[in-house]
Amino acid sequence: MSDKADRLAATRSGALDAIRANVRAMRGYVPGEQLNDPGIVKLNTNENPYPPSPRVFEAVRAALTGDKLRKYPQPLGDDFRRAAGRVLNVDPESILIGNGSDDILTILTRAFVPEGGLIASPTPSYVLYRSLAEIQGARFAAVPFADWQPDVTAWPREANLSFVPNPNSPSGTLAGPILLMKLRDAVHPHPLVIDEAYADFADSPGHVGFVNNWDNLIVTRTLSKSYSLAGVRFGFALARPEVVRELVKVKDSYNCDVLSLAAATAAIEDRDYFRGVRAKILATRERMRPALAALGFEVTPSRANFLWCRRGDRPVKPIYEELKRRKILVRYMDYDGYDGLRITVGTDAEVDRLLSELKAIL
Ligand SMILES: *Cc1c(COP(=O)(O)O)cnc(C)c1O
Repeated sequence: MSDKADRLAATRSGALDAIRANVRAMRGYVPGEQLNDPGIVKLNTNENPYPPSPRVFEAVRAALTGDKLRKYPQPLGDDFRRAAGRVLNVDPESILIGNGSDDILTILTRAFVPEGGLIASPTPSYVLYRSLAEIQGARFAAVPFADWQPDVTAWPREANLSFVPNPNSPSGTLAGPILLMKLRDAVHPHPLVIDEAYADFADSPGHVGFVNNWDNLIVTRTLSKSYSLAGVRFGFALARPEVVRELVKVKDSYNCDVLSLAAATAAIEDRDYFRGVRAKILATRERMRPALAALGFEVTPSRANFLWCRRGDRPVKPIYEELKRRKILVRYMDYDGYDGLRITVGTDAEVDRLLSELKAIL
């Protein structure tokens, strides 16, 4: 290298320095551990312990024949939208497809939140919302839950976008429907996004049927959990058709590929399989809670496919670590000192393993 090049290298780091300051300052969202050890019992990222519907495999195989991979997929996912519209009894035009619901949350942030704007969500809840604000160069308000209910009085009404997971993670709790509508009213005309990643486990229809009644309500869903498709990446939003048409301008033209569209369409159409899997998970959840309580955990009653477990002020991180040594992975969550274990509902055999290891540890 010439002297001149050396000098330049010492004073500038090029693209690294050119990254936006808000991105440089972020820690970055840290997803749950995805270990590649096949012997591990994985109860840390709320995946479904059962395989997807057999029809999903048929649909993916069919998509691999002919010249489907050579061509671009449907940009709006028309076949999926028709199928989901039928199943959920909504207008297909009110559905926006996404590469996982995380993609949907990104699209919503880009569409609604200006630089310097404000995103609000309750805390403790899904940590990704803060990262989305940081990427956008927006501010973030974490509004503490009151008894696991959103605090409408403390909520910043000027928030450009409000996210409420319902059921919430890590608690698995549901917000009261009247309270949610009060919140929607309080932030109007800014949107309230109800993140219904776990709504299928809640034994309640959720809010997909209400997006046409309210002009600032948006609902998001995912096929990662209740349809066993976390590896495929497919989620969607429901909003008024005129809002969806604007959001389409923000998304990548082909944000869902041929294979994920085929898998998602087949999965959502197989209602019997879906109900069977859900019933098994709910039955396991209901026996898991008293068993964990008998081991000394305070377990929040959950309407999702996981349980939030604490031991008062006693530390739970060593339990997470010891379980990991014993090849059981749960999620240790720490919200500024308020911490606990979020444990996914697995198969009955997995849950038996968890319980017997916990008995040995405690
Ligand atoms: C899992 C999860 C998502 C994201 O799901 P993907 O569709 O896999 O991106 C969104 N919100 C919450 C609250 C979740 O727990």
